[in-house]
Amino acid sequence: MSGYDYDLFVIGAGSGGVRASRIAAGHGARVAVAEEFRVGGTCVIRGCVPKKLLVYGAHFAEDLNDAAMFGWDVPVKRFDWNVLRDNVLAEVTRLEGLYGQTLANNKVETILERATIAGPNLVRLASGRTVSAGKILIATGARPFLPEVEGIEHAITSNEVFLLETLPKRIVIVGGGYIANEFAGIFHQFGSHVTLVNRSDTILRGYDQAMRDRLLQISIAKGIDFKFNASFRSIEETEDGTLHMTMQGCDDLAGDAVLFAVGRKPNIDNLGLEQAGVDVGERGEIKVDKANRTSVPSIFAIGDVTDRIQLTPVAIREGHAFADAQFGNGAAEIDYGCVPHAVFSHPPIASVGLTESDARNRFGTIKTYTSDFRAMKNVLAGRNERSLYKLVVDEATDRVVGIHMIGPDAPEILQAAAIAVKAGLKKADFDATVALHPTMAEELVLMR
Ligand code: NDP
Repeated sequence: MSGYDYDLFVIGAGSGGVRASRIAAGHGARVAVAEEFRVGGTCVIRGCVPKKLLVYGAHFAEDLNDAAMFGWDVPVKRFDWNVLRDNVLAEVTRLEGLYGQTLANNKVETILERATIAGPNLVRLASGRTVSAGKILIATGARPFLPEVEGIEHAITSNEVFLLETLPKRIVIVGGGYIANEFAGIFHQFGSHVTLVNRSDTILRGYDQAMRDRLLQISIAKGIDFKFNASFRSIEETEDGTLHMTMQGCDDLAGDAVLFAVGRKPNIDNLGLEQAGVDVGERGEIKVDKANRTSVPSIFAIGDVTDRIQLTPVAIREGHAFADAQFGNGAAEIDYGCVPHAVFSHPPIASVGLTESDARNRFGTIKTYTSDFRAMKNVLAGRNERSLYKLVVDEATDRVVGIHMIGPDAPEILQAAAIAVKAGLKKADFDATVALHPTMAEELVLMR
């Protein structure tokens, strides 16, 4: 037994922190985790989970419309935001309880207060108590970044969007990334008029160009307005509650809500990093080595606060590997290759491996195969929305090095296909696989 109060003190009970805590405790470590807000972190409380539930809710708009062509007479089509919001928030609270239970079941002490670093082995709690730990893990995540714009206090972020009192009739969404495109789809389906504003002339930088173009084309056809190369001068609230936005690069805008989704910043403010000697990078990220160790040997960091890949499953892997390496006999490093990712837009995009342009830069000669089709369900429904799948193949080895998809259920389909890319399978292996008919996924093995 060490002379410390705990073997491990984790700051932040999000996905990564919870995983690290329970795995370390499973290895016999005495573990405490501090959380200043709610157990579960961004993903569970105000990120992936409630967002996905809103995406499901939003889908009903199309499904109810399409139902008529499938013989269903659905007379009532009124959407009640308050019902969905409250049900989603209740589900979040249920999950929060389950996360807390998991920690307790694994004998992790949960301390519901803010914790900061007071030294290489010392943590100060908001209540004034100081505790010692053999190792400290920082898993404080990230938060939405808000640029300096006059009247920015009238804007909301993804933190507040789940709590809106009423559904905005007109919403302006700022940014062209994950959150902006996901909420553009959600609010559009709920019946809001959506204007998406981005500083550049592109959306979803980093995704395959063809998928981005297709999402943009479908979104415009649905009625979402896009303003590119535009930025904000000021936001003012008028007497009737309307927000007036003075713009540069496009006409001024009016809306009932403005949602900023222009990236996220690591949560490092007033954590005591400087005094403890923990090095921080230019983007505010905590610098760590491959074993998640910071510049102070007893202090580690995982997840979004390290700004490597800002995805929940990555933070979970990092937390698990950290705990296995420090308290068990496991490997400290994780494999960041071929991490699949998805944008839950309408329709969703899913991707794994290299984009066509990245592959071309890496390998020189590549081959691409595409399937541009209308899903069977869309055809009968009279929905003129086409899906696009693309395989990127290294010509020299025949290996499939990237798969990119936009269309219904693309993320569900891609998860299985990502195994093939990760395993280094060849195009010939895809060709040799018999199609599962009739599905959308069969397109993956039918591209010639
Ligand atoms: P993203 O990093 O995805 O996109 C940021 C957008 O904001 C870009 O379009 C960028 O423009 C623009 N932007 C960046 N800085 C500024 C600025 N100073 N002023 C104006 N515009 C700016 O950010 P999100 O907030 O959408 O999401 C944050 C992260 O959360 C994602 O990167 C992702 O890792 C994670 N996430 C993942 C989800 C998923 O897996 N489905 C869902 C939601 C979030 P441009 O590129 O044109 O320069």
